[in-house]
Parts: sequence; C-alpha cells; structure tokens
Amino acid sequence: MAAVVFPNIVTGIYDYLIPGRLEGKVSPGTPVLVNLRKRELWGVTVGIKADSLCPSLKEVIDVQGGRWTDSGSTLMKLYEWVAEYYQCDLGRVFRPLMRKGLLHGADKTVQVFMPSPDAPVATLSEKNRAIWSKLQRLDSFSAAEAKELFGVSRSALNRLCGAQCLVRETRTVVREAFEPCMKRSNEKGTLTDEQRAAVDMIMKAHAAPQAPFLLHGITGSGKTHVYIELASRMLRLGKGVIILVPEIALTPQTIQRFGEAFGEVVTVIHSHMSDGERRDSLQELVTGRKRVVIGVRSAIMVPMEQVGLIIVDEEHDGNYKQSDCEPRYHARDVAVMRGRFQKALVVLGSATPSFESYHNAAAGKYRLVRLSQRFGAASLPQVELVDMREERRNNNWKPLSNRLAAAVASTIEAGRQVILLLNRRGFSTILLCKDCGYTAHCPNCTVTLRYHRADTALKCHVCGHFQQAPDCCPGCGGQNIKYKGTGIQKIEEFLHEMFPAARLLRMDRDSTRRKGAHAAILGKFAHHETDILLGTQMVAKGLDFPGVALVGVVAADTGLHLPDFRASERTFQLLTQVAGRAGRCDNLGKVIIQTYCPEDYALRCAAQHDYSTYFKQESENRRLLNYPPWGRLARIIVVGKVEAEVRSLITTIAQEIRAAAGNSLTLLGPSPAVLERVANQIRHTILLKSSHPRKLGTILRELRIRHHRLPPSIDLIIDVDPVNML
Ligand code: ADP
Ligand code: ZN
Repeated sequence: MAAVVFPNIVTGIYDYLIPGRLEGKVSPGTPVLVNLRKRELWGVTVGIKADSLCPSLKEVIDVQGGRWTDSGSTLMKLYEWVAEYYQCDLGRVFRPLMRKGLLHGADKTVQVFMPSPDAPVATLSEKNRAIWSKLQRLDSFSAAEAKELFGVSRSALNRLCGAQCLVRETRTVVREAFEPCMKRSNEKGTLTDEQRAAVDMIMKAHAAPQAPFLLHGITGSGKTHVYIELASRMLRLGKGVIILVPEIALTPQTIQRFGEAFGEVVTVIHSHMSDGERRDSLQELVTGRKRVVIGVRSAIMVPMEQVGLIIVDEEHDGNYKQSDCEPRYHARDVAVMRGRFQKALVVLGSATPSFESYHNAAAGKYRLVRLSQRFGAASLPQVELVDMREERRNNNWKPLSNRLAAAVASTIEAGRQVILLLNRRGFSTILLCKDCGYTAHCPNCTVTLRYHRADTALKCHVCGHFQQAPDCCPGCGGQNIKYKGTGIQKIEEFLHEMFPAARLLRMDRDSTRRKGAHAAILGKFAHHETDILLGTQMVAKGLDFPGVALVGVVAADTGLHLPDFRASERTFQLLTQVAGRAGRCDNLGKVIIQTYCPEDYALRCAAQHDYSTYFKQESENRRLLNYPPWGRLARIIVVGKVEAEVRSLITTIAQEIRAAAGNSLTLLGPSPAVLERVANQIRHTILLKSSHPRKLGTILRELRIRHHRLPPSIDLIIDVDPVNML
C-alpha cells in the first residue's frame, strides 16, 4: 500500500493500494496518479505500508516514469525534516518542485528530415531536384530550418518525402531553460595558491563530510573559480553537484561560467521556466543524464542520487528564504540538512556571510575557509563616505554631492565605467498637497503610493495597485501638489541633464519586466556600450566587469532605519557587495558613499572592508536582545478581512502560548504588523524568541494542530526563522 500526499489541494496522508501491474514501481518519492474525491490527481508517495486503517482503498492509477527517489530514504528524511521544522503539511514540501507541469507534461517532440542515402533523384522534377541539391548538403534539419536557410516550404519537403528522397523522423527533445547569453573570454586559469589551499582543505573532507564549510572570500577573490574546481573534482569522482544562486536573471555571468565549465551535464532550475522545461530538467536529473544542477532555492529539493557537493553562492541572500507561501523554508539551511542526510560536502560562500553562518563558524559548527586576496593585481577599492548634511549646509541640494559628480565626470572622461546605486524605485516617494496636507495612500495597504513619471501613475510597491496621477489634489481640489522624495527615475533624469553625453541605462524592477531584459542591459554594459549603470540593489549582485572604476551609492541610508533587526546587517552587506564591483582588474577602483549618518558603524565598517569588526559589534547588540544567531525566532501572523476576527484569534493564540511556554521563550506582541494592511487583508503578529529550539518547535506544532480548521476568512501563518519582518 502507498501512503500519498498532495502538494496543492488537501492536507494529510492518504492510503492507496498498489495494483499488481505497478508492483515494484512505487517507492517513497514516486509521484502517483490517484483518485481523490472523484478527481484524478497527482500526489507523491511518502511511504509504503503493510496495512491501513481505512477499510476500502482505491488503487494507484499510474506512476511517473523514471526513478523519483534517492533509494527511498535519505530524501524522504529531508522532506520530513522540512515539514517538521518549518511547520507545514508534508504534501506542501513538494510544492516548489512540482508545479502542474511536472506531472501533467508530456515529452516534447520535433520532426526532423534527413536526406536519404540512395535517393532516386532521377525521378524528380527539375524544380524538386534543385531543392534537393540544396538540402542534401545537410545532415538533418527541421522544417523551420529548411525554410530559414533555403526558403523551402513544408509542402516541398512533403513532396520529397513522398518521392523517398527525404526520411522523416520524430525525435524527443529536452526542453531547457538555459540560454547562454554573455560570452566571456575563456578563463581556465590555474588556481592561485590561496584558492588551491581552499579547494584542498574542502576536498580533504569529501570521503566523510562532517561540518559544512563557510567560504568567506572577499569580493573578487575568485569564489566562482573555487566552486568550479570543487565541482569538477566531484564529477570526476562520479558524484552529482547542486549549486544554488539567489536569482537566475541577476547572475547571468555566474550561470554562464558554470555552463561553460560543465557543458552538457548542467541543467538550470528557476522560477520563470515553463512547466515543460521544469519537467524535462527534473527528469534529466532523476535519470542521472544531468549531473549538475544550478538553480534558485527550489533546486535544493531536486530528487537526485549520489549528490557529493552542495554549493550555496551568496549564502547571506534573503532570497533563499521563502516567505510568502508554504513551505516557508530557508534553502541554505535545507542545504546543510541535505548535506548531512546525503553525506555530501556543503560549501556556503559569501564576501559578507550572514550572522547566523559566521556565528556557526565561530562556534565550530561550520569550518571557516578564507580567501583574503583579490585575484591578480587587483586590491580592494578605496571607499569614501560623503556627509550629505555638510553638502546641504553648503547649499548643494542636488542628489549628487560635488565629490561624486566630479568623480563620475572624470571616470567617464578616462574611458571607464560607473555603477550608481539607489535602492528606491519610482520617481518620487510621496505625493503631498501643500494646501491641505493630503498624501496619496494605497487603498488596499498601509503604505504611500509612489509616483512613476514614465507612465504618469501612482503605484503601490506592496500590492501592485495602480492609478493615474491626479491633476489636482484629491483632498481639496487645489493645484498645489508636490512630489517629494527621490526615486531612481528622478536620478536618471538628473544624470541625463548633468551628463548629456554619457550613455546611461537604468536597471530596476520596472525596467526589467520583459523576459531577457536583465541580460540585455548587462550585455550592453559588458560591451561598454553604456557608461553609467544606474540601479537598485540588483547592481550589487555578483557583477564582474573589469571596466568599472567607480561605484557611487546615492543614498546609503534607505534601508538603515527599517523596523527590522537585520536592517543594519543588510545595509552593511549591500554596501560591501556594491563596493566590490569597483576596480576588479586593477588598483584604480574607487567607491563613494553618500549618507546622512556617516557615523553609523555599518557604514564605517563597510567603508573599511572590515567584516570582523562589524560582526563583533553587531553580535553584541543581538546578544543583548537575544536575536539570532543567539536566540531562535518564529513569527506568527494572523491574516484576515475582518479586524475583530484577526484580533480575537491572535489574542487567543498569545494566551495559549504564554500558558504553554512559561519562561522558556519571550513573546513580543500581539500587535498589528508593520504593514498592517496588505491587499485589503488585516495582519497582526506575534514574534517568539527562544533559546530552546526544541521547545519552540513543540509549541508551534501544538498551535498548528489546535488551529487546524479555521474559517476561510482567516489564515494562520507560522514563519520559522523569519526573514521578512514587515
Ligand atoms: P568572487 O565571486 O569571489 O567575487 P570571481 O570568481 O568573480 O570572484 O573572480 C573575480 C575575477 O577574477 C573574475 O574575473 C575571475 O575570472 C578572475 N579570477 C579569479 N581567480 C582566477 C584564476 N585562478 N585564474 C584566472 N582568473 C581568475
Ligand atoms: Zn497596495
């Protein structure tokens, strides 16, 4: 009998009989087609049992071909751990992997034509013979290629098939979501001494991996080179490799480098791939035809046997945590567990490790490996902080300080490139009526609307609400509307005025909505068809352009004052990362950071490239407040349309937890969330802090079971190790 769970519809585990014809084809991990409440549905087998409490069982109808399980046990253990630790139904764990397409998709086939070796050419008409003489030079071709190369129509191909001059064949093709886009010069350089020492140290552990490795390598130290070397050695040992990256679109260079190093054996998994591409990629991994997978967080779940190495690149990145739907897992932490269950080496890499990981390394739970030198002649760029209060006192009200404006001008003059960062979308942040004080708010959320000049619209950056910008004040009808606050589009306009000859591209969520837009922008920058790349945090991620001599941060404080205990850490990481884009091939890199709080230690440490001082200082703050990495956090959010209902449920939950927990944890709240209303849903939260992870787990599990059946108007969310605090 098979115990089956469902990723999307119902919760719980259901039993099904395995009919004789499917005997031996169903094991833990196998997707099965079954009948549930009069519908045929795909579910996943999570166990095989001898008997069931249920008297009348239905039979499994079909199974997914290929081998979907890693000897049944190690991956099931991982999936169960995810469900248990992140407090969700076991079925939900399979959601990231199995969107609809995986289970419903069919093979994709194409028709190809081949010239037949003994074609009776003499029987052809003169016209057909002319066509034939062109086609016979090809080995095989599709109808589309015949059309494109020689203008030959499908009906002509059919005629030639009829005359037995061409052979038609149907082939299965593997759909791939991997499009090489940025050619790089071949860079099979030998490793530096430091890089080699890192590789050797990590590989020494491969026979019996114990602790995960934290690869702390400064920007430009060649972490990607180390990953590639490790992965090649693992492949030679016959093992598979999983490489996680925070976002695919933003890291085309990294993907490209892995693609070139491993060629045919790589497949890519990301969130914008089609269902067919996803199905084929997974199928290739399950069957072992592909041995390396590069992907975003969901790739940590892929069913793949004999994994020897798991790499988490930019391990500090918040994208590894899934916050908005179940399972609310952190792919970095799942990677560590997978490594343990599957006996694989785990390498977490970053120039700015997360507090949690660095703390684990300091405590001896992870092993620290350092790369402290930039590759080649390059050294870390010089960083200068510019105090914008001073600038304002000197009556410069422009968005760029005189210092930064002069540096931009001279950099372009010298034929080099500039990256400018402002982490704020839109043109203005707020619409204000000077007469009546009206400000434009989102009708669905507790945030102000942002003005987007290009489409003269006010937009909500939380729910996406969109409305025409008004001509007069909606409050008093007056004409005295002002747009305040500087967004990236305003800077773009300012730069065009200030540097009319400079070629400028903007990279933010608005300018990169189209598929391939990221790659197009980065491609232009790579070929030096652009002098200035202006962008949001997107430009801080992993870019490796030797032409960049200046990095400017227009406002370093944008994220510093958010009500989130990681605000300072994120600012430090963002500044260090973006600074790391400058001077990657020589000693001429320069970074200028504009700020209103130059005395803040996150900024000062970032300017000194001083991770360890920052870590010490910030650890102390976190320890005093028992925040991670010292204490464990879980966030409980109640979401619903009716405020009274939400308030009543969250109050009950708080009482229950207090009663159950005693003083084993601290409870903050209940209180309205920072974003109290999102898309017309009221949100109230409780934050739990505890130094006893076990106890916290038990309390959360009991809570979940007790409130298992809630009315549809209200939802209870449990977020373990939360990253989103708003
Ligand atoms: P990181 O990921 O640590 O920021 P990268 O792996 O992008 O660093 O390396 C920075 C630059 O140095 C890249 O252009 C890379 O090709 C080059 N590089 C690093 N190590 C080597 C090496 N051993 N041989 C040749 N080039 C290298
Ligand atoms: Zn909104």
